[in-house]
Order: sequence, then C-alpha cells, then structure tokens
Amino acid sequence: MVDSKKCAFCKNNLAGKNRTKEHIIPNAVGGRRKTTEFICKICNNKLGEKWDSELARQLNWFSVSLGISRERGEPPKQIVQTVEGERYWLMNDGTFTIDKSSYYEEVNDGSVKISLTAKTTAEARQRLKGISRKYPKLDVEKALKELEITTDYLKSPLHTKLSLGGPDAGRSLVKTAFAFASACGVEHNQCDVALQYLLDEDLDAIPFGFAYLSDLIECRPKEKIFHCVSLHGDPQTKLLWSYIEYFGFFRVAVLLSKNYSGRLINEIYSIDPIDGSSAGVKVGSGCSMQELTLIWSGNGFNHEIHQAAANYALSIIMERDRNRSLRNAVKKGFEHAAKKLGINEGEAIPKEVVAEFTALMMQKISPYIEHLVRSSKRKM
Ligand SMILES: [Zn+2]
Repeated sequence: MVDSKKCAFCKNNLAGKNRTKEHIIPNAVGGRRKTTEFICKICNNKLGEKWDSELARQLNWFSVSLGISRERGEPPKQIVQTVEGERYWLMNDGTFTIDKSSYYEEVNDGSVKISLTAKTTAEARQRLKGISRKYPKLDVEKALKELEITTDYLKSPLHTKLSLGGPDAGRSLVKTAFAFASACGVEHNQCDVALQYLLDEDLDAIPFGFAYLSDLIECRPKEKIFHCVSLHGDPQTKLLWSYIEYFGFFRVAVLLSKNYSGRLINEIYSIDPIDGSSAGVKVGSGCSMQELTLIWSGNGFNHEIHQAAANYALSIIMERDRNRSLRNAVKKGFEHAAKKLGINEGEAIPKEVVAEFTALMMQKISPYIEHLVRSSKRKM
C-alpha cells in the first residue's frame, strides 16, 4: 500500500470519494490546471467554493468583458452603470441590453396604441401574449413579425470598479498560492503561514499584500491578458512566497512561510483565460526582501505603477471589445441585408442586388462606426 496524501485542511486521507480535483486558479475566472493532492471534497465544498465564488463575483466585469472560457457555463451577466447613471446588463458576448423593459398605452378615439420595448425577442413574445389577454383583438404573431430589433451603442462611458478585497476573496488568493505550492511538491506543513490564515477565519493578520511597487513580470506581453501564480522558495532566506496576477491588473504577493526548509524553487503557472493556453510569462528575480516586506505590511502601493497596471489591462480589454463589437455589427448587418432581400443562408448574392445588399448592411454597421468616432473624440 502506498501512503495516500492527506487533506491540507482536515488531514483526512485523500482517497476514494474524498478525492477531488481542485483548480489551482479558480475555474470561475478561467483557471484550468488542477491538483488532486491538495484538499478533500468536503473542505473544498465547505470553504473553497465560498472563497472562490466571492473572488469570481468581484472579478466578473473582467471575465465578462474579456469573454473568458470556463469548464462549466459562462460568466453571469451583470449590471453595469454609465457615468451618467444609466443601468444596463452586460452580457457574456460583450453586448449590453436595457435594464428594464418599458410599456405604454395610449387611448385615442376608442383605439389603443401600445408601445413595448423588451430586452429580448423571447421576452417580447411573452409580454405580447399577456397583452393579448387584455386586448383579445391583438394579433400576437403579426406583432412579432413587425418587431424591430435595434442596436444602440452606449453614449457615455461605463463606471467600473477596480477593487478586490474582503476576507473571502483574500482567502481564495492564499488558497491558490498554497494549491500551487502543493502541486509543486511542497509539503503542506511547510506553508504554515498560509495554513493558519485559511483555517482560522477570525485571523486578522493578512499574509498577502497588493504588489504595485515594481512590475514583477519580466517581458510582459503587450497584446494579451493573462493570469499567473508563481512560487519562490529559498532555504537560505527561509522564505516561501507566491506572486499572483489576475487579468493583468490585480497583483498580489502571498507569504506562505518564513520557516521554509525545502529545495530552492522558482516556478510559475500562467494561462490565457480566453482560450486556456499557456501565457509563458516569467516572474523576475528582482523582487527584494525590502520590497516584499513593504508589500506585506500594506505599503506595496505606488500610484503610478497602479495606474500603469490599469492602463495596460484596460487598453487590451477595450481593444478586444472593439474588435468583438465590430464583428457583431458586421454579422448583424449581413443577416439584416439577407433577410430584407430574401437571400437564404449559403445562397450567393445575385449581382444585381449587391449594391442594395451593401447599403442594407451599412445601416447596421454605421451606428457602430459613429459610436467609435464619438468615443475616440471623448478620449481626446
Ligand atoms: Zn479536508
């Protein structure tokens, strides 16, 4: 019999139905790599999921805006607000829908005029059926055929919160560093500081800090967003620590132990959350003990570096969003023109209607171009 590993939290054997696959970086934010030798199923269900879901909730705007892929389901849609206070739902494909539907009745000389704005075609159908119970003369199918699907672009910028915090999201970060150490073969009892923080939910001494004093990533890629978790262990300094970066913006250093006695370790796991491929980044060796001490005492914050991190991440996200919106606009334009001219999928566009087809397509694409011009003027 080979000794099975034990759960890092409750010390039960990780065997049989107790075994579970634990994502090192939560799958809810796009992590893929798993370890089966870290914590048991019960501890994962009881604690791990609570911490990870809070982290995922706080990072959801990034997940949705970037369109990350996950193993189970898409990131949930979320309410966003423009700087002028208008509310919209940000959908997983990067589009927005109105927050609330609207309905007006106007009575004129015994006839009733109804105006209805719905979020989706399915909702419009449902609302129309309801209205037809009140007004049996309403022809639901006819009204649905006349339905106009419109696309608008936001007229003012969105208000986005760029913060991460609280005890549950913090524990998710520390668990990720600890899980990566476990996957790198570090004995669980070597991660004493992390373990103490994770097991005692009343503990106030936080073993991580925001890391915005220097850029710890060597040769940061310019066109893509990545997640990474690294592990650094040195038996001479006795320090075992980890650097975690999510969405190119959220950057923390986690202290795992000050009594590390294992082998010298410098490992990193990085991933592109959009397609799951490896991001191939490196954590430089330039982080000094002095810098780490500042980070862990809560003084790891330099406004310029923080601003540069936000600019880096947001410009990549916005660029991706612009490309996605343009693709959507072209697709909608094509469908609109094909429908108007009665051209079915797979059929060639007859030569004599090409000009008309293009004009119809542009009806749907022009508002997007105008939106681009408006937003670039705003930036200047
Ligand atoms: Zn356990």
